[in-house]
Amino acid sequence: MTQIISTVDFEQEGKQIGWLRVPHSVTRSAYGTLPIPIAVIRNGPGPLVMLSAGNHGDEYEGQIVLTRLIQQLQADQIRGGLIILPALNLPAVLAATRVSPLDGGNLNRVFPGDPDGGPTWKIADFVEQVLLPKVDVVADFHGGGASLDYRPHASTHYGPDAPDEHKRRSLEIVKTLGVPHVMIFERRNKAIGLPDAAIRQGVISIGGEYGGMGSVSRPGVQLVQQAVDRLLACLGIKGELPAGLPEPEILHIFGPAAYAYAPEPGVFEPATELGDQVHVGDLCGHVLFPENPARSSVPVFFKGEGAVVCKRHPGRVEAGDCVAHLAAPLNA
Ligand SMILES: [Zn+2]
Repeated sequence: MTQIISTVDFEQEGKQIGWLRVPHSVTRSAYGTLPIPIAVIRNGPGPLVMLSAGNHGDEYEGQIVLTRLIQQLQADQIRGGLIILPALNLPAVLAATRVSPLDGGNLNRVFPGDPDGGPTWKIADFVEQVLLPKVDVVADFHGGGASLDYRPHASTHYGPDAPDEHKRRSLEIVKTLGVPHVMIFERRNKAIGLPDAAIRQGVISIGGEYGGMGSVSRPGVQLVQQAVDRLLACLGIKGELPAGLPEPEILHIFGPAAYAYAPEPGVFEPATELGDQVHVGDLCGHVLFPENPARSSVPVFFKGEGAVVCKRHPGRVEAGDCVAHLAAPLNA
C-alpha cells in the first residue's frame, strides 16, 4: 500500500490544486514530506487524462506548458477530467537533474516502483497503482535532458499483444498532435518506464521528446502546447481539432544498431546534424584527444540506416556514452 497522502480528491468535481505528500524522514525534518504538485480538474462524465512532466528533472518544455495549463484551465471549460503533474519527480526537478538527488532513482527506469522504497520508487508505485488505473490516456512529456539534443517527436507505446483497437486509437491520437515526426514504440519484455506501467494498466500511452541540452526550446514549448490542446480536442475534453491535418512521418528505433557510442574517453566531434539521413558505415564523428595531441583521432561509424534524431550535447565523452541515435520509417 502506498504511503503517499493526496490532498486532492480524485472524484471531486471542479478544480483543485494540491499535493501528493511523499514521506521523507531525514535529520533536517523527521516527519518531513516531499510535496509533489498535482491538479485535478473535473466536469461531469467524460474521458479522464493524466498529463505529466518533470519525470526527468532537466527537461523543461512540458513543465512549462503544464504549469501554465494548471493556472489557466477552469473546470467549466472542459468535459471529463484531467490529472496534471508538472513536476512528477520533484526532487529531480528542484535539482535540475535527470535522476533524483535523494536516492539516485531515474523515475522512468524504476517502474513498477516500490511503496516502501526510496522517494523515486514510491512515486512510481503511486503512478502505477493509484493514478493510471483511474485514467484512459496518459501523456508524459520529455525533453532530452542535459546530455542530449532531440529533433522533436511525439510518441506512443504499446505491447505486442495489445488489442487492435488499442493500437488503432493510440496511433490515431498521436498522429493528431501536430508534431511532424511520430515515433512508435512496441515494448517487449520491459517493465521499467512509465509507458510500460501504462501498458500494464491498459492505458493509452503518449509521450515524446521536445527539446534537450538542459535548456528550454521555444519551438518545443509551442509543440507541447499544441500537443496538449489537440490531445484534449481529440479526446472530446476541450475544443475542436482543426480540419485537414497533415500526416506525420511514422518512425521507430529499429534496435541496438540505431545507437552510436563513444569507444573511449575524449572530445567527440560530430559529423552530422539532427535530421541528416545516414547509411551503414557513414561517419558519425571522431573522438579526439587534446590531452595527447600526437595521437590520431578515433572515428565512430553508424551501424544502421535512418535519420539522426538525437545527438549528444556535451563535447566531452566517456567510453560508452551514446553520441547519436537513429530512427527509420516504420515500414522500411
Ligand atoms: Zn526524459
